[in-house]
Amino acid sequence: MQKCSEFKPRFRGAYSDMHCCNHPAVPLDKLDASEQVVAYKSTGIDNVAAVWAKDHWGYSYYPTKVGVPHPKLRGDYTGEMVRLLHKEGIQAYGYFSLGFDNIGVITHPEWGAIDKLGRPIRVMLGPDKLRWYWVCFATPYRNYVIAHIKEIARRYDFDGLFIDINEAHHAEGFCYCDSCRKQIHSIYGVDIMKEDLPWEQIVDWWWNKLELQMMKEIRNAIKSIKPDMSVSANADSFLFGKEFMNLLDYTFRDFLYFETGFEQAMQLRSSGVKYYQVGFHSVPETYDPMPIDITRTVISGILAQGGLPAMYFEAEKADGSFETQNFPRLAKVFKEITQKREYLVEADAIRCLGLYFSWYSMHRPGHCHHLSNGLTGALRGATNCFVPAHVPLDIITSYNVTSQLLSEYDLIVLPECTNLSEREARQIREFVHKGGKLIATGQTGLFDDKWKQRTNFALADVFGLDFTDVDETYAINRTGAWIRCSSHEMFGEFQGNSLKTGPRTIKVKPIAGETIATFELPCLVETYDEFVCWGPPPPGRKTKRPALHLHKFGQGHCLYIAYDIFLHADKGCWWPKSLSVNILQWLLPGVPISVKGHKGLKCSFMRQPAQNRIVVHMINSTSIDLKSMCIPLGPTSICINSQYFPIKEAKEVFPRKRFLPLEKHGETMIVHTDVTDVHHIIVLDLY
Ligand SMILES: [Zn+2]
Repeated sequence: MQKCSEFKPRFRGAYSDMHCCNHPAVPLDKLDASEQVVAYKSTGIDNVAAVWAKDHWGYSYYPTKVGVPHPKLRGDYTGEMVRLLHKEGIQAYGYFSLGFDNIGVITHPEWGAIDKLGRPIRVMLGPDKLRWYWVCFATPYRNYVIAHIKEIARRYDFDGLFIDINEAHHAEGFCYCDSCRKQIHSIYGVDIMKEDLPWEQIVDWWWNKLELQMMKEIRNAIKSIKPDMSVSANADSFLFGKEFMNLLDYTFRDFLYFETGFEQAMQLRSSGVKYYQVGFHSVPETYDPMPIDITRTVISGILAQGGLPAMYFEAEKADGSFETQNFPRLAKVFKEITQKREYLVEADAIRCLGLYFSWYSMHRPGHCHHLSNGLTGALRGATNCFVPAHVPLDIITSYNVTSQLLSEYDLIVLPECTNLSEREARQIREFVHKGGKLIATGQTGLFDDKWKQRTNFALADVFGLDFTDVDETYAINRTGAWIRCSSHEMFGEFQGNSLKTGPRTIKVKPIAGETIATFELPCLVETYDEFVCWGPPPPGRKTKRPALHLHKFGQGHCLYIAYDIFLHADKGCWWPKSLSVNILQWLLPGVPISVKGHKGLKCSFMRQPAQNRIVVHMINSTSIDLKSMCIPLGPTSICINSQYFPIKEAKEVFPRKRFLPLEKHGETMIVHTDVTDVHHIIVLDLY
């Protein structure tokens, strides 16, 4: 047996999403591996992230003895792809659809996921649009999968196997099949047809018994045959637990939570899996190509965050041939990546500002499909508020957090982290006490990890406040209150302004610290007959209720905001974005490194320890903002605190190669440059 696989990262991926039905209109008579490999090679692709071994219909694209060969198949498409790709030096990753299998459910109805009324569960694209059948991992389908995976691992020298649709906890609801009923009854003593399974046991069943065990068995099956074949899944730490993510040699996601590659790759980085591939499927639309600069911006954003871009497309025609009209455009973009490669490998993100993703808050009762939970919106809102600050920014996943990891950050933001365990609260308290800065919002810490409501915030001593109540009196108005800003310098241009909030606010009682903004309440509660004008009723009553409260705790500072400001930002409110940058500048006057430049810029800050250098990526996102070509953003400065990073030399390495002068202002070193193109890479060599 050889050692466990070592994933070798490549930056020019392609992901062809090919699920061909067996319909007379889809003859597949021109499905040709050599045609596809020629197309990939001419585009500059260096890894094919999905070579078809089993699709959503349940069909295999090779003469399988375990599974179902596609009825239209002639020969061994899968094997030809692996052989030809490897001949061209292109990595080949096998694709296996785990969670959908139409043929499987039709021929073995007992394998299907079943709803409470006994109907097979299908994936819903919309109220009147259904797609494939979900299978249930509690059934003998599981054994079928393992035999199938083993056959694939034996037959083909894939560089890795990518497992898609891994969720046992799907959006369409819980499975009530006979296997689930029997097994749940024997483990938990509950008949799910008659009574509800307690939430903790649902979590245990779905995630620990079904999803996790399935992935463990798949990994073991692959590694028992090909120890060097890497294992991956379509997964991230928002939806999959620590043990699941630890089973992956690399991970993959498309744009599930964010609109652009920059943020989506940053989110995937928080998974704790070293390599993460981001499929940018919204960009290279085969029949509706976007302006090339948008594609360049998306790919550059993924690279800037240490991600591996993979072009996701549906380019298969009914006869199986490829529609390659969009490939030459992509070839131009992929060509650029070669010049950037040496600045991308073995790079770690510099830590400064961390947005805390709270696993327990996402996985709450009544929110079985977690994407519907407001937490995703709050986290996305916080991300979009702090990206324009141009400081090192991370999302940190709570289950990967240790006291040591927290201590590497200067500021932690808890965007509506409703559920915090005692351990998490202790770690965060310790972080602030030792000098860390904290921003917390709304109901953060009002529930524990078992979803039990606390009578007070878990971090009340850190906030300098006691919890009193959630105020929903004016929720019907949509604007529940206004924040009345004081003349505190943190408010900058908003000093003395009233700024609208969302529907509900939090009532708190100060224990220590300084209230720097109070709530102003609406003049009335809107009813069917009582309203003021077109919009929400205007402010009518000033209060002393704290809206923003500052508290010095130990060596650190905490700012508590008494409503869900980041979810509000995500829903389109303007002011939180500007105020967040002000708050950050006030709380962190001496950041280790930052960029002063246009708000249309997105910056990441990576460190390459082997070269003893910092790599600053500057992404000009105007093409995405304007939905057109990128426009130059003009003069930009990188400010480096020389106490953190002693800079020897600065140079631009992409798109131009030139040395940049260093300017010294006290402890701050400044590097002036200008952003004209989509992606600028500045290298700062350290002493
Ligand atoms: Zn089931």
